Amino acid sequence: MKSLSVCVYCGARPGADPAYMAAADALGRALAAARMRLVYGAGDVGIMGAVARAAQAADGETFGVIPTHLMAWEVGKRDLTTFVITETMHERKKVMFMNADAVVVLPGGAGSLDEFFEVLTWRQLGLHQKPILLLDIAGYWQPLIALIDHVIAQGFAEESLKGFIETIPDVESLMARLGQVATAG
Ligand code: AMP
Repeated sequence: MKSLSVCVYCGARPGADPAYMAAADALGRALAAARMRLVYGAGDVGIMGAVARAAQAADGETFGVIPTHLMAWEVGKRDLTTFVITETMHERKKVMFMNADAVVVLPGGAGSLDEFFEVLTWRQLGLHQKPILLLDIAGYWQPLIALIDHVIAQGFAEESLKGFIETIPDVESLMARLGQVATAG
């Protein structure tokens, strides 16, 4: 089985429900236990920091990418297995995506939504086949799913758009799905 690299998009803040940070911690540990590499935005704040610290504590491989101007703001985590500094946000997203086999979206804000919609639109255009998995902790992503349903219902996207997104309720189910991706790859 190929060792999987998993790109995790997630908030730079902890969010209101402690379940979000708990899920981030569980995901970091689970990725490390499965010998899957964490690819993420290299920050040490919020959900981002929780995923990375948990993966590191469990001896997992971590690959982080951060633009120069966010080094202080997001507390660039230099002790990752691989730490990449880019000039721009666009380069950051590109390097993260290029180095991943699957994308997981944890609860997050506008930055996470930007990253999610970019890979979703690339998928819609046929530019990649990587799975896009929404980790729907405490139903956080339900309004996003409703928005996508609305976009389809109102004729602004094909029904197939929905098929590019997999909504997964918890870390255990997510790891089972990533295991399938690893086996298929
Ligand atoms: P947020 O979900 O808003 O907390 O942001 C999550 C992460 O996405 C943070 O590391 C942000 O710096 C990052 N981010 C925000 N906007 C962009 C963008 N346009 N390109 C790349 N990363 C971004």
